[in-house]
Amino acid sequence: MTKISIGPSGLGPVLSAKEVLKKYSKKGFGNCEIDFTYQVYINSKQAEEIKKTSKKYKIKLSIHAPYFVNLNSEEKEKIEASKKRILKCCEIGEQLGAEVVVFHPGFYGKKREEAYENIKKEIAEMQKEINKNNWKIKLAPETMGKINVFGSVEEISNLAKETGCSFCIDFAHVLARDKKVDYEKIKKLFPQKEWHCHFSGIEYGEKGERNHINLKKEQWKELFENLPKDREITIVCESPSRIENCVEGLENIK
Ligand SMILES: [Zn+2]
Repeated sequence: MTKISIGPSGLGPVLSAKEVLKKYSKKGFGNCEIDFTYQVYINSKQAEEIKKTSKKYKIKLSIHAPYFVNLNSEEKEKIEASKKRILKCCEIGEQLGAEVVVFHPGFYGKKREEAYENIKKEIAEMQKEINKNNWKIKLAPETMGKINVFGSVEEISNLAKETGCSFCIDFAHVLARDKKVDYEKIKKLFPQKEWHCHFSGIEYGEKGERNHINLKKEQWKELFENLPKDREITIVCESPSRIENCVEGLENIK
């Protein structure tokens, strides 16, 4: 039996975090992804408080790392700064009791064929830091929605296989990038028991992702019909009306 948890991206300001988590649990959400996309806005002390509340309401937490990350930059300083940002998310995420830190791995740069090896190496180095600190939190590179950005399902699958990191399957991104979602292929590429996923509606063109849009009920149905049957799947909804969309998702779960 697959266990599916649904919840929104975004916890909002620290001051209202307790109330928001309570509201999420009342709606039946099982998870929430904290947006550190522009900055890590929670300190250690606040993290402990939020962790307690999230345990009380049984909301699993995850982190989305800053957008300013490129593990395949030609400039060494930019790679170091990227890793620092991700590791800061791991530190606070660990204090929050979060399970994964999702991040956008980087760009292909001039030598597309070297991008994979470079990114793999940086992930392995961050993993060493995580181990050194005895953190349980996992790194989760995300499948990306633009064809000229690193992050095809194959690339993310290989990173997970070769480094032991976790992963984030963004179904909207896969659709925008590949123009279809090949669920059978994805099941084969990700045999792991635990899946961390993003889901939303999406507008896209030849080059991939343009905009995240709201989900239709039918899209939830299609997703549920095609998800593997023997996993633990966390779905983070990122559409503009994510709260309403999550409620619809829960209503259509089988
Ligand atoms: Zn993302």
